[in-house]
Amino acid sequence: MTPRTTRVVCLVRRPGKEPLPGDFAVEERPLPPLGEGQVLVRNLYMSVDPSTRGRLETTEKHYTHNFAPGSPLDGRALGVVEESRCPSVPPGAFVRHQLGWRERAVLAGADTDGADLIDPRLAPLPTWLGLLGQTGFTAYVGLTRIAALRPGDTVFVSAAAGAVGTAAGQFARMLGAERVIGTAGGPDKCALLVEEFGYDAAADHRAEPVREALARLAPDGIDVYFDNVGGEQLAAALHALRTGGRIALCGMMSQFGGGRRTVDINHLIQAVLKRLTLCGFIVRDHDDLRPEFEQRVAGWLRSGRIVARETVVDGLEHAAEALLSLLGGGNIGKMLVRLTPDA
Ligand code: NDP
Repeated sequence: MTPRTTRVVCLVRRPGKEPLPGDFAVEERPLPPLGEGQVLVRNLYMSVDPSTRGRLETTEKHYTHNFAPGSPLDGRALGVVEESRCPSVPPGAFVRHQLGWRERAVLAGADTDGADLIDPRLAPLPTWLGLLGQTGFTAYVGLTRIAALRPGDTVFVSAAAGAVGTAAGQFARMLGAERVIGTAGGPDKCALLVEEFGYDAAADHRAEPVREALARLAPDGIDVYFDNVGGEQLAAALHALRTGGRIALCGMMSQFGGGRRTVDINHLIQAVLKRLTLCGFIVRDHDDLRPEFEQRVAGWLRSGRIVARETVVDGLEHAAEALLSLLGGGNIGKMLVRLTPDA
């Protein structure tokens, strides 16, 4: 029988300086009846993304809507179709879509924007939300189109042990970078960057000023900075970049929450002196690159030259904790929540 409700994570109140578990609650909410052309999906995995943090606020401007207290969260997820009134999407099909943070969803109207069928024979399900998903695609767009990476470049990636960062380091290597340097929080993550993710060198941004680390690890400078964090690391990269260097401004992990903002603009004279290019981007503006991305990255994965890594938390009731953990650096690779024990 078609379920009439689903468990969903809702925002209870806007967070104070830092979000707390009590800012979220799992609630039972009605599912709409299945209309013509619609499908009922049982979610297997959901993606946990830093952008959710900004969407909890009123003031942060985002490329999609902010959440209101009392309303459900959403985000990328992958599920299996349980019931279908859409001939091209039969029961049993695997669908990637935008209605995460809940166990079941009816995909209808605007919710089908960006929904796509995936083939689990080509890669394991978690990979479709990680290396072959939006995060891998973000790394690919940032390196190829925004930073215009060239063979021989020295590339620096911040938050290098995270989802985008583990992809960016490996892709940079595959695209011909001469030297790839990453920063991450803690010695264990730094060791993994070199041992598992193909980085030439890594520095712990919690233990050493990044400007000093770059001077040590890239004494001749860097050509490309893939910026996931902003703040001190962006300032350090401005100093380390060679003339004509490029920065792909992907995200600003260091700037979330109150009272921690830093003033990188003091260092921007470097961009003038060295004729740097700084370019921000939103991955969804670059969907024309997606077929090329999927073909190349699937090939690299099949050949074993790159690896996919996920940190998986079990159960919708732990989804908010997974978000808090991600913001504090508790993940290696892509942070996911498994919503069904048999997934
Ligand atoms: P990650 O898996 O990289 O997780 C976030 C990581 O940020 C943490 O693991 C932590 O790692 C690091 N971090 C947290 N606080 C700080 C801080 N104050 N200074 C430095 N590092 C910090 O997340 P994603 O890979 O999903 O996202 C990476 C970036 O890409 C984010 O900025 C995100 O907003 C952005 N993004 C942008 C997109 C676009 O279209 N432009 C699309 C998707 C993502 P550690 O322990 O190493 O510090």
